Amino acid sequence: MPADDHNPHIKAYAHCRKCMAELPADQSPRSWARIEVGLTDAGCVVWCVRHDCAIVEVAFDDKPTSLPRLPRTTSLPPLN
Ligand SMILES: [Zn+2]
Repeated sequence: MPADDHNPHIKAYAHCRKCMAELPADQSPRSWARIEVGLTDAGCVVWCVRHDCAIVEVAFDDKPTSLPRLPRTTSLPPLN
């Protein structure tokens, strides 16, 4: 996939371990993934819809939580 101005420069992808264990031979991790990404009270979560479990949870730096923290950024492009 070619890079463009909206490419988030992903360095590593997050996948559900259970989905990767069940990955059919004719599917790629991208085509097999069934994920949702959403904001939570603490930060954000990547959720596996197929297995109904969290893949990654990250807290923003100004929220009280025991989750790993990432600094809030102001460099994200505007949403369309
Ligand atoms: Zn899964």
